[in-house]
Amino acid sequence: MTLDFFASMTAAPSDFRKIEALLKDAKPKHDPLAHILTTPLFMSKEALGFVRRFQEERPSEVCFDSAGYYVQMGKIGYHELYMKLLNCYRMHRWADRYVLPDNVPLSSDSHKQVEEKVRETVHYSCLFFQEMPDELKERAMPVVHGRTRSQIEYCLEHYLKLGVKWVGFGSFGTAGKNNEANMATASAVENARLVAQIAAHYGVKTHLFGIGAPALVGMIYSTGAAAFDSASWFKAAGFGQVHLPLMRSYNITYQNSSSELQQGITWEDFTRFKHITNHSCTYCQEYHILAGHKMHRVIHNLLAVNESVDIFNQEQFERARTIYEQGSLKYREEHKQWLPLAKS
Ligand SMILES: [Zn+2]
Repeated sequence: MTLDFFASMTAAPSDFRKIEALLKDAKPKHDPLAHILTTPLFMSKEALGFVRRFQEERPSEVCFDSAGYYVQMGKIGYHELYMKLLNCYRMHRWADRYVLPDNVPLSSDSHKQVEEKVRETVHYSCLFFQEMPDELKERAMPVVHGRTRSQIEYCLEHYLKLGVKWVGFGSFGTAGKNNEANMATASAVENARLVAQIAAHYGVKTHLFGIGAPALVGMIYSTGAAAFDSASWFKAAGFGQVHLPLMRSYNITYQNSSSELQQGITWEDFTRFKHITNHSCTYCQEYHILAGHKMHRVIHNLLAVNESVDIFNQEQFERARTIYEQGSLKYREEHKQWLPLAKS
């Protein structure tokens, strides 16, 4: 089993240009942009042009995301999204995968609200599937939502009837400003596992949405999912945070902080962690380069996520264990639930 990391890219064209140039200089063993998730509805023509060129040249596998996240933030209504997305997908038929429009439940939603959003997502995803151009149907990926087993089974039951090859799971919890980084409640992880197991039984692959702090890659792998996407490498860099393979993020730009989310790290500790994780790249050789330049942190972080995935894809479970055991307290315990499952 291999796990594919989809780098979430919704950046401005100037960022695409910098990422491409800096990544070239880093000379990674495996291209971290081999898989890209992007949101065509909210991308400029120029930025989308970069994605298309990456698909042709690198070549990157491209997944179009539905922008359900923008509904969640209140930037667009769900029904408005449906029509715009359908037109967008009809116009751009070159992607490798198409996420169907989902109405993402919030952690703060009541059970009744979650139930309504689950029903709505299933109803409109199936309708959307019928209205998609036939040539795109085999590339469609509907999204499973829900907190309960019956909600998840309800989604899968309807999606499997469509004959899709992929399903997504998107209900990992949305608490806090920094929700892309670290939120994964135990029940959500169990639900992700359930989706991957049922889907696999029918020969369908599972993609886990919007979760991708490097420390969680072990959890993701252990669910049996075939893919996940993450924007944390980019966003975290903007907050001054640095990733390392299978480790939690630390703030490199200042060293004393009372905030747990923004816990700082000394250069000495960072260097020690680099040895433990066996990470090294051109952008983390010197403190002032990593701490002083956001785009250098972006590339360093991207490489760190990619290396986290490589460790599992190469079945280096002992190496993973060694890193987790020397990492933050939280994962010293949690990884014990993931690694035995990763082996089976
Ligand atoms: Zn580095």
